[in-house]
Amino acid sequence: MYDVIIIGAGSMGTAASYFLAKQQKRVLCIDAFDPPHTEGSHHGETRIIRYAYGEGADYVDLALRAKQLWQELETLTGEQLLLPVGVLNMTDKDAPFLHNVKQSALQHHLHVESLTSTDVNERFHGITIPDTMEAVYEEDAGVLHVERCVSSYRQLAEQHGAIYRVHEPVQQLSKKHNKHIVETTHGTYEGKTLIVCAGAWTKQLLDNIHVSLPLTPTRKTFAWFDAPEQYDARHFPAFVLERPKYCFYGFPSIDGSGFKVGKHDGGEAVDPSQPLVPFHDEDLAHLQSFVDTYMPQVGTYKYGKECKYNMTPDEDFIIDTLPTDSSIVIATGFSGHGFKFSSAIGELLAMMAMKQDVPYNLQRFSIHRFL
Ligand SMILES: Cc1cc2nc3c(=O)[nH]c(=O)nc-3n(C[C@H](O)[C@H](O)[C@H](O)COP(=O)(O)OP(=O)(O)OC[C@H]3O[C@@H](n4cnc5c(N)ncnc54)[C@H](O)[C@@H]3O)c2cc1C
Repeated sequence: MYDVIIIGAGSMGTAASYFLAKQQKRVLCIDAFDPPHTEGSHHGETRIIRYAYGEGADYVDLALRAKQLWQELETLTGEQLLLPVGVLNMTDKDAPFLHNVKQSALQHHLHVESLTSTDVNERFHGITIPDTMEAVYEEDAGVLHVERCVSSYRQLAEQHGAIYRVHEPVQQLSKKHNKHIVETTHGTYEGKTLIVCAGAWTKQLLDNIHVSLPLTPTRKTFAWFDAPEQYDARHFPAFVLERPKYCFYGFPSIDGSGFKVGKHDGGEAVDPSQPLVPFHDEDLAHLQSFVDTYMPQVGTYKYGKECKYNMTPDEDFIIDTLPTDSSIVIATGFSGHGFKFSSAIGELLAMMAMKQDVPYNLQRFSIHRFL
C-alpha cells in the first residue's frame, strides 16, 4: 500500500515524486515509457523560463518559486540546469501579452527593460523587427535544460526511496474500500492517494473514471538551424515573438547546438495513443518563413522534431483535486507553457497529496471551470 501513486513520471510527476520521497512518503511513480523520453512533452533540449509573465501576474509567484527550486536542484545535483541568457518578449505595439509582462513586472518588482524596435534591432544583432512592434527584455530570465531537469528529479527521488515502474502504462483505475487500485500492463498497485499527471494522455485516463475534461493533445514542431556567431548564447537571448496571427519562440545556440525555433500557435489535434506524424516540409516552411522574416542571418536548417502540447480551452493549467474525491490530485493541461513551473508544481502536488496548506491562490487553475 503506497501513500501516493503518481501516474505519469514526466515533467510534473518526477518533481512531485522527489518532494514526496523527501518527506519519507511511500511513493510509486508509474510511466508508460522511461523518462526522460521523446514521446510526451519534455524533450528537445531546452525550455524558456520567464518570470514577468505575459499570461498574467497570477503565475508569477509560482514562477519565482520554480526558479528557487531549480537553483536548489542544481546545488543538490551539481548539474547546470538553468542558463540565465535573458528572454526578449516581442509583440505589436500595445498587445495584451506585452502589457501583462509589464504589469507582472510592476506588481512583483521584477527588473525588465522596455525596448523600441530600433533598440531591439541595434542591440540584438541578428534580429529585425518592424517599427510597428516593441519589446520587453527580462535579463534574469533564461533557459532550462529540460531532459536534465527531469532526470535530476527522478534520480534524487529514487535516492530518497521513490519506486519507479517504467514501460508500464496504466490501464485501469478504480477504488475499493478507500483504496485506489491502479492496474497497469504488468501489475496491480494500491495507494491512498493518486496524482494524475499523464500529460497528453490524461484525458483518456480520466475518461476511465468518468471525469471528462476538455483537453486537446496537439502536435507541435520545432527545428534547429546553423547559428552564426551573433546567435550564440553568450550574447543572444531566448525569445517569444507574438503577432496577431501567430506566435513563435526560440533559443540561442548553446554550446554549438544551433539556433532553435518553434511554433507555439496552431498544430493539429492528435490521438496520443498513435505515433505523431514526423516533422515534414510544411512544418519547416512555417519555421523557415519566420526565420527569413525576423532572424535573416540564421544559417541552414539542420533537423526538426515533433512534440505534444496538452491544451485547455483557455490555455490555463488544471491543478486541483477531484470535486468527487479529494484523494485524487490532477495536474494537467499545461498548454505549452508548463515546464518552467514543474519544480514548483511538483512541490505543490506533494503538498496537495499530503493535504497540507498550499501557499498559492489556485483559483485560476481550478477544475471547476470545466466541470
Ligand atoms: C515543443 C515544446 C516546447 C515547449 N516549450 C516550453 C517552454 O519554452 N517553456 C515552458 O515552460 N514550457 C514549454 N513547453 C511545455 C512543457 O514542456 C509542458 O507543459 C510540460 O512538459 C508538461 O508536463 P507534463 O508532466 O504534463 O507532461 P509530460 O512531461 O509529457 O509527462 C507525462 C508523462 O505521463 C506518462 N504517461 C502518459 N500516459 C500514461 C499511462 N497511461 N500510464 C503511465 N504513464 C503515462 C508519459 O509517458 C509521460 O512521461 C513546451 C512543450 C513542447 C512540446
